[in-house]
Amino acid sequence: MTIMTVPNQSEMESYWLPFTANRQFKANPRLFVGADGMYYTAADGQRILDGMAGLWCVNAGHNQRPIVEAIKHAAERLDYVSSFQMAHPLAFEAASRIASIAPAGMDHVFFANSGSEAVDTALKIARAYFRVKGEVGRTRFIGRAKGYHGMGWGGLSVAGIGRHRKDFGPLLPETDHLPHTLDLAHTAFSRGQPAWGAHLADELEALAQIHDPSSIAAVIIEPVTGSGGVLPPPQGYLERLRAICDRHGILLIFDEVITGFGRLGAPFAAQAFGVTPDLITCAKGMTNGAVPMGGVIAGDKVWNAFMAGPENMIELFHGYTYSGHPLACAASIATLDVYRDQDIFERAARTAPLWEAAAHALKGLPNVIDIRNIGLLAAIELAPRPDGGAVRAIEAANRCFDEGVLVRSAGDALVLSPPLVISDAEIERLFATIARVLKLLQ
Ligand code: PMP
Repeated sequence: MTIMTVPNQSEMESYWLPFTANRQFKANPRLFVGADGMYYTAADGQRILDGMAGLWCVNAGHNQRPIVEAIKHAAERLDYVSSFQMAHPLAFEAASRIASIAPAGMDHVFFANSGSEAVDTALKIARAYFRVKGEVGRTRFIGRAKGYHGMGWGGLSVAGIGRHRKDFGPLLPETDHLPHTLDLAHTAFSRGQPAWGAHLADELEALAQIHDPSSIAAVIIEPVTGSGGVLPPPQGYLERLRAICDRHGILLIFDEVITGFGRLGAPFAAQAFGVTPDLITCAKGMTNGAVPMGGVIAGDKVWNAFMAGPENMIELFHGYTYSGHPLACAASIATLDVYRDQDIFERAARTAPLWEAAAHALKGLPNVIDIRNIGLLAAIELAPRPDGGAVRAIEAANRCFDEGVLVRSAGDALVLSPPLVISDAEIERLFATIARVLKLLQ
């Protein structure tokens, strides 16, 4: 096997990069060849401080040895088992370990291979749940503006970022959206959960009245909107949404692909906010990013409904070739060991106050119109250029990269989501770099 660090021209042509301006990228490719802890190593040898945990996923830092070893060991033992009427012990162990840190009463895990698959699985479980219960008219889904739920048709349909949807319609019929909770007039520079905005949950009641509540299967939201720009839920918002769902028998799905596995200092956002949904979707931190994996954690109410049917029937005719793949399960078990043995979630909780202070210290810098944070997430919202010119956040993220710091843009915001093992000194460096860049940016 040859190991090449820089692709040649024909290899460049072969690879169609996702989410990327291919031709622009290939003129000046950003290539990584290694990673450990808080850092990537670029092909030119530069060390890059990872302010994004890869893509919101490497919660325990890169190349954690126990995870690497577990993957190697699993690969040598059992490469693959069909997901059709067969299984292997690691899948049961991974599921029960995940259930053990999930909210009480959420004890059943369905495996997928990504966040997108997890979301489509959750939506399908919701519809099938009502079929099983004989409520065949409950088919409608409600998402939320600025929501991101992956790139499958179901996820795209309930998502609320127009740019992601516009080339692909028509999407699933019978979907609606709640408004998002960002209103700078009321929420700018809030620390953690904004005090304003709980009443926006009442839009669900309004939609229920328009459509007839008994036509709504599920509401799906990210407890903290991530890719839409890091929007922590207003105080009381999630509680209100839960109450309206309960009133009308609607399932509540939390998409915890970003918030799951410690990002907010608790295993899941459901626990951090004290609101329990009926289904949780997760991925990313499930394996610390090391092997693709996603899943749906189901509450007992949903599980029991499926298990009440005839024993010789397949309860849910759904799954993927690689659902519960041995490598992914081994990676997930080792990841949960790392989270436990290295106190990763507690560490995130301990670091959050310093993180918040460092983020909000950027207030007053040129063009900064909002700063939002919760757990180890933050967003620095920059004013759009009045002439509609180049998005400042993209330019700022590029300049940070030139200074050896990886952050991302989401619309006009710089978004930050470091590995939860970030040190105080690295937090200081991350925000000092952003501050320097913002001072230079017109
Ligand atoms: N849901 C949320 C909340 C996400 O943030 C993401 C990915 N950023 C997804 C779903 C989709 O996950 P994947 O890219 O693994 O399909």
